[in-house]
Amino acid sequence: MIQEVHFATFYTECMARRKRSADHAGRRGRDIGSSPAVLRDAGGLADSVHPYSGRIAVLSTKHGKLPLIGPPLERAVGVRVEAVVVDTDSLGTFTGDVARVGSPLDTAIAKARLGMRSACQGLGIASEGSIAPDPAMPFVVADRELVVFVDDDQGIVVWESHSSCDIVTARTIARPGDDLDPFLVRADFPAHRLIVRPNSGPMSPIVKGIANVGELTVAVAECAAVADDGQACIESDLRAHACPSRRAVIAAAAGRLAARLAARCPLCGAPGWGRVGVIRGLPCAWCGTEVARPRAEIDGCVACDYRATRPIVSTDARADPGECQVCNP
Ligand SMILES: [Zn+2]
Ligand SMILES: [Zn+2]
Repeated sequence: MIQEVHFATFYTECMARRKRSADHAGRRGRDIGSSPAVLRDAGGLADSVHPYSGRIAVLSTKHGKLPLIGPPLERAVGVRVEAVVVDTDSLGTFTGDVARVGSPLDTAIAKARLGMRSACQGLGIASEGSIAPDPAMPFVVADRELVVFVDDDQGIVVWESHSSCDIVTARTIARPGDDLDPFLVRADFPAHRLIVRPNSGPMSPIVKGIANVGELTVAVAECAAVADDGQACIESDLRAHACPSRRAVIAAAAGRLAARLAARCPLCGAPGWGRVGVIRGLPCAWCGTEVARPRAEIDGCVACDYRATRPIVSTDARADPGECQVCNP
C-alpha cells in the first residue's frame, strides 16, 4: 500500500514536471520567431516552431557524451539537452564484464528510457556503439555508433548512425619489464587510454582508464602476478571518454540525428523525416537488365505512413556492364 502511495506521488510529480517543460516550450515558441530552430523550408512547415524547441531532453550517459551530442541537437531543433547519470553498464559493457543482450538499437532505446524514468522526462537520448571487424573487410576494425531520440509523449523513436574505420584499437600480451613502446605508438597512448587484465586464470583485477606509463607499469605487474601464465593482456579502453577516435564517430552520428530531427514529415509535421529504404534496379548500359545498384531512396515518417520516393541518379543513368549478371556472369 505504501508503495502505491509513493508511486502515485512520484507519477503526479513526473507529470507536473513534464507539463512544465512542455508549457515552457509553448511559451518560448510564440516569441522566438527568429530562432534557428524555426523551420524555413520544410514544405508546408515553413516558419513553424519546431516541437522540441525549448523542451528538455535527457541524455543517459556515464561516459561524458554530453559535449558530443548536446550541441548539434540544440543548434538543429532548439531542444535543451541535459545529461542524466544512469548506470547504463547494467545493459552491457564494452569491456565485456556485462554481456549485451538485444540489438544495439534496442539497447540504446532502453538506455534512453532509463534516463527518462529517473529524470521524469518524456524526451530522452542515448547512444550505443559496436566496434568489430568490418563485414566487407575483416582485417579492418569498424566503429558503428548509433544515437537514438525517444519521444514517449508522441510515441516516436528517431535514430541515426555513423560508421568509421578510423577507430584506434590495439591489443597485446606482455610480461613485466617488456618493451611496450611499439605497442603504445600503435595504441596512440596516452591520448587513447588502456585496460589491463590478467591474460589467463582469474578474471580480476581489471584496471580501466589507464592514462600514464606509471599506472600502466603497476597494472601490468599486478595482473601478470595473478595470471596463470604470468602475463597481462593490454588493450584499448573503448569507453567513450577514454577513446577520442570513438568520440569523433559519436559526434558524427549525433550530427546526422540532429539533421533528421530538424526534418519534418510533409504530411503530419512529426520530426524525424528521412531515409527508410532504397529502391534497387539500375538498367545495364549494354543489355538493360537491372543490376542491384540503388536508383532511388525512400523517405518516410516515423509517426505516420507517409512515404516519398527520391531518385538518387538521373533518369538516363545506366549501370556498368561489369556488374551485370547477363553481360558479365
Ligand atoms: Zn507523418
Ligand atoms: Zn547487361
